[in-house]
Amino acid sequence: MDDENLRILYQEMILDHGRSPRHFHQIDDYTCSLEGFNPLCGDKITLYLKVDKDGIIDKASFQGHGCAISQASSSMMLEAITRMNKKEALELFKHFRAMCLSQEYDKNLLGKLHLLEGVKAFPSRIKCATLAWHTLEGCLHNGEKPITTEE
Ligand code: ZN
Repeated sequence: MDDENLRILYQEMILDHGRSPRHFHQIDDYTCSLEGFNPLCGDKITLYLKVDKDGIIDKASFQGHGCAISQASSSMMLEAITRMNKKEALELFKHFRAMCLSQEYDKNLLGKLHLLEGVKAFPSRIKCATLAWHTLEGCLHNGEKPITTEE
């Protein structure tokens, strides 16, 4: 695919997921939940995960508000990590973060998430894209303190 097509696909994905995010609700039987906040943009999400006894993310959802990128990134992340085990999800986060920071990462591993690569051209939006992931990491580590992108 050439750059122009990738750019168009990127915009369509953001618009689609931003407008109608998947997994946008609260699951009743979650085993962990955590809030994440990106004060630079005003994005705020609450993540809900149901992790089973084998460490598999059985269900995942979020609620919150913010810009289209934060919503789309949360939505796409939850699609990707549902049914993964904790270790796989954290591994995916490492690659996603590396992509946003223009470091080396495994494109195949990221699959559709790779379409969010476009954010790296907009440094101020990188935190919008990684907010859900930082919140996920905190949640999987059983953190209780809300995550903020500005420490
Ligand atoms: Zn944002």
